Amino acid sequence: MSNAQAIRMERPQHFREQPQRAADGVGGDERERLMARIAELLRERDAVLVAHYYTDPDLQILADRTGGYVSDSLDMARFGAEHEASTLVVAGVRFMGETAKILTPEKRVLMPDLEATCSLDEGCPPDEFAAWCDQYPDRTVVVYANTSAAVKARADWVVTSSIALDIINHLKAKGEKLLWGPDKHLGDYLQRETGADMILWDGSCIVHEEFKGLELEQLRAEHPEALVLVHPESPRAVVEQADVVGSTSKLLEAVTTRDEKQFIVATDAGIFHKMLEAAPEKELLKAPTAGRGATCSSCAHCPWMAMNGLRSLLRVLEEGDNEIHVDEAVAERARVSLGRMMDFAAARRRVVAGDA
Ligand code: SF4
Repeated sequence: MSNAQAIRMERPQHFREQPQRAADGVGGDERERLMARIAELLRERDAVLVAHYYTDPDLQILADRTGGYVSDSLDMARFGAEHEASTLVVAGVRFMGETAKILTPEKRVLMPDLEATCSLDEGCPPDEFAAWCDQYPDRTVVVYANTSAAVKARADWVVTSSIALDIINHLKAKGEKLLWGPDKHLGDYLQRETGADMILWDGSCIVHEEFKGLELEQLRAEHPEALVLVHPESPRAVVEQADVVGSTSKLLEAVTTRDEKQFIVATDAGIFHKMLEAAPEKELLKAPTAGRGATCSSCAHCPWMAMNGLRSLLRVLEEGDNEIHVDEAVAERARVSLGRMMDFAAARRRVVAGDA
């Protein structure tokens, strides 16, 4: 019997509904003009653009063109911390900007839209989370990066999806019992893969939770040659059908390195830009979000990531507002749990490179 258990909670009162604002889609000459002006301002402001794979392709293109970076949240944090620019412009969701600020407090961190949040962060209020942790004083608290600075400050470890398995295995080997928050699907996957003793917070990603197991079975039957790639924020019925489970970086790597020609992809459709750029000859199919239990959010694209656009990015660079601030006492504690992950990741990179 699984020793994971989900703690049932009502959705917090302050959980905000999905934003109505979407990316400020522009095209043609206007797009090129905006991109050129933003590139100029990035240079003038000694700023570098760091974008998540789920953001609008225009922002990813711009980051690449201007010496910035496009990646998953762990690698974004590493790049931002190592880059010499005095200003980081983070295109993504708020916890990514906060992470950048915590790791590099001496830098200015700007974001196109400070209201761009995440259902996992919203569904894990710091006070409730701290009270929950207090009930289990003998357990090590491990939180997903998709959380507020205050939740990270209450944790012993922070992990991202690209390093979670390694860190949970490491803690299990030390005989530690764990509290995990906030994503119950990722927690369930980690528990099943590692056998670690974990108690799970009941949070979820509104995008990945919409992938449908039954409909995926049907799509696989129609495309028996396709490799199924799944992000572990997805429900168990979807994860169990995967050929590859992992972070956005791992899924991108699978598309570029595997011999298969066709892939069914269960993660935010924003990643398709980099997948097709890296492997234009491959065919990508969106894993189904429509079907039984589908909601209006069934579009496989994060509504908060979609709030990042060229116009909002330009405005932020022109006006210098939308700066991320994190209370220093909170940041100091969050730096400990984040630092453990960054150190662990650096040690793993050295092992992979054969330096240790
Ligand atoms: S895709 Fe899900 S986990 Fe990622 S930022 Fe959006 S709501 Fe959060």
